[in-house]
Amino acid sequence: NQLNISNLINQTVKAFKNAYHREIDFVEVNDTPLFIETDEKKLKQLLFIFLDNARKYSDETISVELGKDNDEVYIKIIDTGIGIHECDLPKVFDRFYRVDKARSRKQGGSGLGLALAKEIADAIGVRINLDSVLGAGTTVTILNKNIEK
Ligand code: ATP
Repeated sequence: NQLNISNLINQTVKAFKNAYHREIDFVEVNDTPLFIETDEKKLKQLLFIFLDNARKYSDETISVELGKDNDEVYIKIIDTGIGIHECDLPKVFDRFYRVDKARSRKQGGSGLGLALAKEIADAIGVRINLDSVLGAGTTVTILNKNIEK
């Protein structure tokens, strides 16, 4: 299914803003619409998991950036929150893994979000990169092949 990715992000961001009353900036780098071939519902689910983490682990405006690099479309979900230590980065996609359980954290969770995200990404054929700096913030990048229209 060929999706207009900009429309899909706009819908997801709007729904998320309404549900959680959080500021989200959506920046489109391209001035023409971008398309990828993937499952609409599952991609929305994926975006929702990353937006939900950005919401839980940061207090400031969340940014979403859509653009393309060579022949790939990228979607970045950027937060300026607590970040993840590099030792923990390889483990956060494991089931039930939560960083620093002892530190008092107001946000609950089960540690399943990212494990599910990885399964969804594999199922729909998109790649995920996670970049994070402890104390500075986290950027999740979703990548897939650009479909020229
Ligand atoms: P849930 O299953 O409800 O999503 P969770 O947020 O604990 O709970 P994951 O989404 O799998 O579970 O994330 C695993 C861990 O990775 C989190 O507990 C958190 O420590 C860390 N993490 C994930 N996203 C971020 C982020 N944007 N900023 C900082 N830490 C994060």
